[in-house]
Amino acid sequence: MASTDNNDENDDQHFILRCFQFISYPFVVVINRLVSDIHFMEQFYIKLYNIYAFVSQMFFFLSCTLAFNEYNASKKEEEFILTGLKTLLFYSVFTYFASKTRDILSPTHPSLFHNWNLTEGLCRIVIEWAKAIIVVICLREQGIYFKPSVPYAIFTFSYYLCTEKIFTEICLKLCQYLDFDIFDDLEHLYVPLVLNMYTMALSLIINLYLLIIAEFMTFTFVSCYFTIYIRLKDSYYNYWTVVKLARKTFENFRTASQKELEEFDDVCAVCLNKMSKAKITPCNHFFHPNCLKECLKSSLLCPICKVSF
Ligand SMILES: [Zn+2]
Ligand SMILES: [Zn+2]
Repeated sequence: MASTDNNDENDDQHFILRCFQFISYPFVVVINRLVSDIHFMEQFYIKLYNIYAFVSQMFFFLSCTLAFNEYNASKKEEEFILTGLKTLLFYSVFTYFASKTRDILSPTHPSLFHNWNLTEGLCRIVIEWAKAIIVVICLREQGIYFKPSVPYAIFTFSYYLCTEKIFTEICLKLCQYLDFDIFDDLEHLYVPLVLNMYTMALSLIINLYLLIIAEFMTFTFVSCYFTIYIRLKDSYYNYWTVVKLARKTFENFRTASQKELEEFDDVCAVCLNKMSKAKITPCNHFFHPNCLKECLKSSLLCPICKVSF
């Protein structure tokens, strides 16, 4: 008797579970679809780098304006938005002239590549920065002042440097030039990752403070979404998983022994130089370890036979 009762109970539970699955199925499908669509849209938004950088800078500046009381609270509420915009305006002036200077110093600049002249280059740089000062004076004449407090300037300017394309590119070039061992020749992935971490940490500090004082809750949550959640997704999907994949792929390749190198007796197909050290791909092709790493940066295909790793 007892076993029949147990069976009945099991059947009942099974039936209820099936009913529940049947009813919830459409909801699960809709939610899954929604989550994947949102993920797709977020990835698309991240690809529009200039807009992505601008929105996160704007939200961070506004959060800092609220946290450091940079706006005149006695005036209208729009004042705090104006302070954020003004900050961005002044930093953009700086960026514009910094990019001009970089272009002048760049060896690929057409006018200097053919006719490099130190005096001319310096004169151009001085003229560009004189223009920057004129722009700032004109803005002041129009009543647009920018007198930030020291902590506000430190937070916003360091955030701006870490998110604006020209400065992140300079940082990447510098790290590639200094060639730190810790980055393992994957600077193009590690540098944006580290910069993203830093900006997320800054945003976390400011937004936690805003949550503690609990005055601008809705704004703080929206700001967290754009300056922390989206950046976290960017770091994870576009850099961290790629770093892991690149490292795993590289570690899976065998190092060639001295005997194999002597038998192979050929040059590296990437740089056409002789090899004293080599990695062997699964498709049996030999490359310098660094040449192979360099190729893996652009795609996970064998540089010779295009087999996928
Ligand atoms: Zn090579
Ligand atoms: Zn191959």
